[in-house]
Amino acid sequence: MFLAKTISEVRAFHQQHGGTWGLVPTMGALHEGHLSLVRRARAENEQVAVSIFVNPTQFAAGGDFDKYPRPLERDLELLKLLGVNLVFAPANAEIYPPNFQTYVTVEGITLPLEGAMRPGHFRGVATVVTKLFNIFQSDRAYFGQKDAQQVAVIKQLVQDLNIPVEIVVGETVREADGLAMSSRNAYLSVEERNAASVLYRALCAARDAFLRGERDGDRLRAVMRETLQQEPRANVEYVSAADPITLQELEEIQDGVLLSLAVRFGTTRLIDNFLL
Ligand code: AMP
Repeated sequence: MFLAKTISEVRAFHQQHGGTWGLVPTMGALHEGHLSLVRRARAENEQVAVSIFVNPTQFAAGGDFDKYPRPLERDLELLKLLGVNLVFAPANAEIYPPNFQTYVTVEGITLPLEGAMRPGHFRGVATVVTKLFNIFQSDRAYFGQKDAQQVAVIKQLVQDLNIPVEIVVGETVREADGLAMSSRNAYLSVEERNAASVLYRALCAARDAFLRGERDGDRLRAVMRETLQQEPRANVEYVSAADPITLQELEEIQDGVLLSLAVRFGTTRLIDNFLL
């Protein structure tokens, strides 16, 4: 496994190692959610690359950029065990040199949900992902359904900018009580961690209502909100029953629906979703 710190090292390694390439972009602090994407990339490509970069442009000022966990040595050990060929762990200045002034903005679908709560977040995501696609020129890139709106944004940008990469989406990996794995779960106190399984229960309750035939968007949103309100530590930011492609809230559900929610426990913000 080669550890590249610079873009030119990635390019040189790519030139020396032919075959199909799969890329898994991450911010590190790897857990089973990330590793499931890496395993899939390993199975589907001759060469696997993982990037580890805590991208400053997708964090709000005063957000958790500084305290975001960065256990690089441990991450490298895990990736070595999975047979990864190349890890790219650049310094900030390698990605954003002093004269940097070009950003990628995806419009409509970045406006609701996470985009509304985190202004500028998807501009940072779209910019760094576009840069990673250009740096790696991989055949495939792997993202988690856990970040459903991020998947929609990346698919849109790949389509709009004609980027020659196949986007592969991996299912959300969960803890035993249903809580979606996230590097941010480490911020939760024991009490908050126990309470956090309410996100999963709220999604299950709305899914069950849908499976019983409920097709009214307001009812599904109410079912999620009512479940979340049973947990006093949960501060709800949004609940959504939206079209999975446009991300517009649905009144009447026809083909399928993306149920999603964002909830704060103290200062920790958690998101989750089900695609029905
Ligand atoms: P992050 O390091 O949080 O930027 O995540 C890197 C990639 O892993 C993104 O594509 C995420 O959607 C994905 N991911 C994060 N958590 C999970 C999870 N619990 N299950 C599956 N994929 C995940």
